[in-house]
Amino acid sequence: MVQSSVLGFPRIGAQRELKKITEAYWSKKASVEELLAKGKEIRAHNWKLQQAAGVDVIASNDFSFYDQVLDLSLLFNVIPDRYTKFDLAPIDVLFAMGRGLQRKATETEAAVDVTALEMVKWFDSNYHYVRPTFSHSTEFKLNSAAGLKPVVEYLEAKELGVETRPVVVGPISYLYLGKADKDSLDLDPISLLDKFLPVYKSLLAELYSAGAKTVQIDEPILVLDLPENVQKLYKGAFEQLTGEGLPEIVLTTYFGDVRPNLSAIKNLPVSGLHFDFARAPEQFDEVVAAVSDSQTLSVGVVDGRNIWKTDYTKASALVNKAIEKLGKDRVVVATSSSLLHTPVDLANESKLDPVIADWFQFATQKLDAVVAIAKDVSGEDVADLYAANAKSIKARQESSITTNPEVQKRMATINESLSTRSSPFPERLAAQKEKYNLPLFPTTTIGSFPQTKDIRINRNKFTKGTITKEEYEQFINQEIETVIRFQEEIGLDVLVHGEPERNDMVQYFGEQLQGYAFTTNGWVQSYGSRYVRPPIIVGDVSRPKAMSVKESVYAQSLTKLPVKGMLTGPVTCLRWSFPRDDVSQKVQSLQLGLALRDEVQDLEAAGITVIQVDEPAIREGLPLRSGQERSDYLNWAAQSFRVATSGVVNSTQIHSHFCYSDLDPNHIKALDADVVSIEFSKKDDANYIREFSDYPNHIGLGLFDIHSPRIPSKEEFVTRIEEILKVYPADKFWVNPDCGLKTRGWEETKASLTNMVDAAKEFRAKY
Ligand code: GLN
Ligand code: ZN
Repeated sequence: MVQSSVLGFPRIGAQRELKKITEAYWSKKASVEELLAKGKEIRAHNWKLQQAAGVDVIASNDFSFYDQVLDLSLLFNVIPDRYTKFDLAPIDVLFAMGRGLQRKATETEAAVDVTALEMVKWFDSNYHYVRPTFSHSTEFKLNSAAGLKPVVEYLEAKELGVETRPVVVGPISYLYLGKADKDSLDLDPISLLDKFLPVYKSLLAELYSAGAKTVQIDEPILVLDLPENVQKLYKGAFEQLTGEGLPEIVLTTYFGDVRPNLSAIKNLPVSGLHFDFARAPEQFDEVVAAVSDSQTLSVGVVDGRNIWKTDYTKASALVNKAIEKLGKDRVVVATSSSLLHTPVDLANESKLDPVIADWFQFATQKLDAVVAIAKDVSGEDVADLYAANAKSIKARQESSITTNPEVQKRMATINESLSTRSSPFPERLAAQKEKYNLPLFPTTTIGSFPQTKDIRINRNKFTKGTITKEEYEQFINQEIETVIRFQEEIGLDVLVHGEPERNDMVQYFGEQLQGYAFTTNGWVQSYGSRYVRPPIIVGDVSRPKAMSVKESVYAQSLTKLPVKGMLTGPVTCLRWSFPRDDVSQKVQSLQLGLALRDEVQDLEAAGITVIQVDEPAIREGLPLRSGQERSDYLNWAAQSFRVATSGVVNSTQIHSHFCYSDLDPNHIKALDADVVSIEFSKKDDANYIREFSDYPNHIGLGLFDIHSPRIPSKEEFVTRIEEILKVYPADKFWVNPDCGLKTRGWEETKASLTNMVDAAKEFRAKY
C-alpha cells in the first residue's frame, strides 16, 4: 500500500476557536487553563479528523498558540534577556516575544514594558513567523518549563490512539531564518550551529524515548539561493542527528525547486525526502534520481498553498512515475506543504455558487485528495472518485465564468504611455508643494483606525439584514467623522478616513470586482490571532463601478486638510487572494491594475488628490530565487502599479505603502510613487537605513510597531527620528507608523499618535 501523508493541518479551528480563546486570554476574560484546554481540544479534533479520513502519516506539533518558529525559540531557550526578567509564565513569555507586552504594576504583578520581536513573512506566503533573535549570550538548552511541546503533543495524540509524526523546523533553517539581536550585530546566527546541534539532538532523543519512530524535519530554506557555506552544513548536521536512540528523519522542503541545492541533501542519512511538486513539478526527474536506495520519497502533489481541486488523474500519473523508479513501498503521496495556508473546510461555505464551489478543495477536502490518490496508485478501486474529479476539472476548464472578452480587449491597450506618469518626480513634487504646502516632517497614518467591536457588530448586523443600508452607512459616516476629528485635534497633516467600512483590505475590493469569488468562513492564519479570508480569483477581473469614492468624498467634506484616498494595489490584491492557476500571475495583476486605474481616476475627479495605493504584499511576491522569474516579477509588479496610478495630473500625490520583511529600495523605485511609507520600527541596522537614503522620492520610515499595544513615548520617537536623521535627509522625511491601526484599540492609538505628532513638531521647530 502506498501511504498518504499530510505535512500539517490548520490550527485555527473551523470556527476560529483559537483566535477567540487567545484574545479572550489576552484580555483576561479566559484563564490560562481554559486557553490550554482549548488548544488541546483543537489538536484532538484535527488528529481525529485526519485519522477518520484515512490519512496514514499525520503530523503533530503542527499546532501553535502563536507561531511554530516562535515555539522553537521558547523551547530552545532562544529568549532575549529582556523577556525573562519579569518572571512571566512560559506562555506569557511566548506572547510577549510575539506581540510585546506593556502593563502597569498591580498589587500582584510587576510593571512590564517590552517590544515584540521582529515578525517576517514565511517565504513567499502571507503567513508571518517571529524571527529567532540571537545574541552572544544566547544559551541553547531544552527549556522544559512548560514541558517539551513536541513531546507533549506527540504523547497527547498517542493517548487518543493516533500515532503521529512530529514536525519541527530544521536546525539550519531555524538559524538561517533568524537574526542577530541589536546588542550582537556582528553575530551570524548560522555560526551557532555547532552549539545548537547537540540541543536539537537532545530534543530528537526525547521524541524517540516517547515513542516517535520518525520525525518530519522541515528545511524550507533549501528552496532559496543558499550560500555555499550553508549548503555544506547539511551533511555534517544530519550525520549528527541520526543514530542509535534517535528517530528516523524525513527531510521536507516546499515552496519551490530544490535543484540548485540538491548536492546539499544527496546521501544524507535521512530515511525520506519530501519535495513540492505542486509548485515545482519541473524538478521531478532530478530530485527523484537523488533519492538514495534506502530512502522513501514523499511526493507533494496536493497543493498546500491554493484551493483548486487537485487533478487526480494528473497527480496519479506523477506518483506512478515515482513508483516505477522506486517501488510502491518507497513512495508516499503527500500535501505539497503544511495545509496551514488553506481554509479549514469547504463544507462551511453555504453562500458560494455551487458551480464554483465544485472547483475547490479546502484543507479538509485535501485530506480526501491525498487518501484517494494513495488508494488509486495502490491499485484500489476509486473509479467513482476519479470520475467525479475529472468532471469538475473539465467543468471549470469549459466554464464561461472564467473569461471576459472585454477585459481581454482592454489588456491589449497596455503600453508604455499607459503606465508612465506624464512628468518626472521633480516636476510633480513642485506641483504638489504648491498645492498642499505641507510642513517639513509631514505626519500621516497608513489608513485604518481601530476596527472596534462596535464596527464589527454593525457590519454583522448589516450583513445579516437586521439594519438597513442607510442605517449602516450612517453608522460608517459617524465613524469617519470621529476619525477625522481626532486627527485634526492632534495635528496630523494628511488625514485618512479610517477604513471602517472595510472588513479587509483585499476582500473589500474583491467583493466589488467581477471575476472574484469570496467565502464566508475561509479563514487562514496570517500571524498570531490575525486571520484573513482571501478572496478567490476565478476569472478575468473588472470593476463594474466605483468602490471607495463615496467614503473618501464624505471624509473630505468634513475637513480642509487633505484626506488620502485609500486603495489596495494590484499585486497585493493578487497575492492576498487565491490566484487562478489557469492564467499567469502577470495577467491577473495587470487586469487588477486596469480595474484600479479607473478607481484612481474616479477618486481624482471627485477631488481626492492624495491617493495611497497599498502594496504591502509586493515583497512577499518576490520569487524566492534570483534570476529571470524574479526580474520578470519586478517588472510586471511595478508595471501593474503604474497602470493603476499613472493616469493622474502632476499635482495629484500618489502614495504607496509596504510592510513586513526586508524590502530592497531598488525594488520599489520602478513604482515611481511620490511618497512611500514602509514598516521600519524593528530595523535597527544603520546600514539598512542608509540604503533608503538614495531613494529618489519621499519616504516615511515607520516609527512604531502597530502589531503591539505598546505605547512609545514622545522621547522614544525623538530618539528614533534623530537616529534615522543621521543617515536620512530631513527634506524627504515623512512621519508615520509602521502600518494601519485596525488591530489596535483606541486608547493606545490615541496615545501613540499624539506622541508621534508631538515629536514631529519638535523637529519642525529645529529645522
Ligand atoms: N491601508 C491599510 C491599513 O491601514 C494598509 C494595511 C497593510 O499594509 N497591511 O490598514
Ligand atoms: Zn502595512
